[in-house]
Formats: sequence, structure tokens, C-alpha cells
Amino acid sequence: MQEQNRLNQVKAEGKNFLRSFEEEDLKQLLESRGFPVYRAQQITAWLWQKGESNVDKWTDLPKDLRAWIKEHSEVDTLRLTDNLQSQDDTVKFTFALADEANVEIESVLIPSRDGKRNTLCVSSQAGCAIGCTFCATGTLGLLKNLKWYHILEQLVHVQKATGKRITNVVFMGMGEPMQNLKNVITAIRKMHKYFNLGYRHITVSTVGIPKGIIKLADELPKVRLALSLHSAIQYKREQIIPLAQAISLEQIVDALKYYYEKHGRWLTYEYVLLPGFNDSKEDANALVEMGYKVPAKINIIPFNPFPEAPFRAPTKREIYRFAAMLERKYPYPVTVRMPRGRDIAGACGQLALLHKRKILESLQER
Ligand code: SAH
Ligand code: SF4
Repeated sequence: MQEQNRLNQVKAEGKNFLRSFEEEDLKQLLESRGFPVYRAQQITAWLWQKGESNVDKWTDLPKDLRAWIKEHSEVDTLRLTDNLQSQDDTVKFTFALADEANVEIESVLIPSRDGKRNTLCVSSQAGCAIGCTFCATGTLGLLKNLKWYHILEQLVHVQKATGKRITNVVFMGMGEPMQNLKNVITAIRKMHKYFNLGYRHITVSTVGIPKGIIKLADELPKVRLALSLHSAIQYKREQIIPLAQAISLEQIVDALKYYYEKHGRWLTYEYVLLPGFNDSKEDANALVEMGYKVPAKINIIPFNPFPEAPFRAPTKREIYRFAAMLERKYPYPVTVRMPRGRDIAGACGQLALLHKRKILESLQER
């Protein structure tokens, strides 16, 4: 019954995006049109495993089925609009939603220096409702929650455009994954199924939403979790993350403990280094205490500035000073993530620059 409703809804919208169908829905659709249901599996393989959007190339399907598909549906739900290569091999991709061309999202491909890993940083939302003061995406507000297929399709287009196989995925692009968790979980399951990605090669980064952390632990405990901590001092965290006024560090710690119990490995604390704000001895000591609460590696991310940002980038000296203070006392590894892709505004937290520029331009035109 649910399937039938879904089919009716798709029909009512007048659009049939093939990638928006779950395999079960596809079966229903094919059956209702007199095609054998096993074709659904072949179509799914072309869509996701082989990543081929051109129906003419689906040569193991009979011509009449291909003709029917072309007449009644579009394949892709994303349209690649831009693709910028950085000097350091990072590539930023910009996509427009196929049915809402003014909504854009971004993904960033980060190949490891030894060429063994290709990590894709995916978006889970267009914009973000949280509004962290140091994040360009946050300045956009929430534009749209992505569906599971918008998330999954980012992998398809990037693999196709680069010929590189994605080996790791991080949810560190635009958006707060825990505020779109149902679609994020479905997308992760399908990454595992269709792209052969191990759950431990997928990382979900969150600003700290306990309900979501617990749900993810229950549903996908092998997935890695990163908490965007940025300060282990409650009142300071509140100053840069508006949501922290409603959710305390203690509540987050409880949820992290639950995750850790199920996951069994160290989590990650992400720490955007904001010079003069969160890089004192007191800040480092508070972080050390967090390490004793829940085992986690620390990843220091030097702040990536953007126009009108309320902070400046830390100097190398400031970064290593803070890292050294921590390393002396912190019980788990501390790493510094050197920014990559800065020249193409593809670094963490810069993924809204293009949008902002476009919005400003369109305002000026009026
Ligand atoms: N909403 C999620 C995931 C997307 S942000 C989260 O906040 O975790 C991914 C990472 O980029 C987060 O750790 C975030 O704090 C960081 N980030 C955001 N803006 C940044 C900036 N301007 N410079 C460096 N890192 C930034
Ligand atoms: Fe949203 Fe994450 Fe940016 Fe905060 S840092 S505004 S949660 S995307």
C-alpha cells in the first residue's frame, strides 16, 4: 500500500527520477507496467554499482524497456554544475538539485598523498540551520534537507568525473547530518551495499545532538563518529555554537559514552582552532578532561577564514603551540589537519562561499 502511494505521488509530481526509487519501489513500478520484476536489479546495478546515467548504455535491458524508461523518467537527481581542481589535488564539485536548480550543494574529493585512499566529503543538507559563527555554511541557514539519493549520487558523479574509486566518506560537507538522520542512515547503508564501502570507512561528523548520536549508535555502530567540539568549556561553546545553549556538554558526553560502548574504538573530537578564543592553557586543560570522559583522538583544524568571518586563521606557531600543550597531557593521539583545497574554497567550513557570492550577486541585480 505504501509503495502504491509512493508511485501515485511520483506520478502526481509529474516527475520520475529513477534514482529516487528504492529497489522495491522499482519492482512495483515495473510490475505495474508489465515488465518482469528482476529487471529492477539490473537497473539498480546500472544506477549505482556501475554509475551509468545514460540509459542507452544499459544494453542488457530490452529496447522497449529502455524506451519506456526514457519516455517516463529522468535518471539523475543532481546536476554537476562545477568542478574545481586545487593545486594540492583536492577537487571541489558543485551540484544543483535536478528539480530545484537554485539549490546547490558541494562535495570535496581529497585523495591521500600516497594515492591509496580517496576520501569524499559529502553534504547532507543544503545550508545548515545550526549557524555556528565560524562556519560559512552556517551563514546560509537551512535551504533543504537532502534525500538519501542526493547524498548517494554525489559518489556516482565524482567517481565518473575522476575515474577514481572512493574508498572513504566523511559527512563533513554542508549540513548537520543528525538533523537529516533518516536520509543519512539510508545513504550509508546503500554506500555499503552498492559501493562496497566498509562502515568503518565512513565518518559522521556532528555538532553534538544526543538523540541522533544514540540513534546512529543503535542503527550503525560501526560507523565512525566525530564530534565537533571546538571548546570543552560550556560557556565558550555557547558563544560559537548557538545550539550549545540548549544542549549541554554533559548531555553530549552521555550520548558519546553510549556510542563508544557500541563502537568500541576511539571517537574523534574536532577542534577548530580560533586564535585568541579557544587556544589558551585553560582550553587545553578542559580538552584533556574530555579525553578522560570519552576516549577520542583530537583533530585540530586550523580555522579557514572566509570574507566577514569573525576570526582570523591561526599562525603555524599558534597551531603548534596549542598542539604541544595538549600532547603533553592528552591521553590519546592529537593530530593537526592541515588545510587542503583552500585555493578553491574547498576546505572545511568554506563550502558556502560560492552560494553566498551568488546570493549577493542576485540581490545586486534586483
Ligand atoms: N555539521 C557537522 C558537519 C559539517 S561541518 C559538524 O559541524 O560537525 C564539518 C567540520 O568543519 C566541522 O568540524 C566544522 O566545525 C568544521 N568547520 C566549519 N567551519 C570551519 C572553518 N571556517 N574552518 C575550519 N573548520 C570549519
Ligand atoms: Fe552547521 Fe556544522 Fe557549519 Fe555548525 S559547523 S553551521 S553544524 S555545518
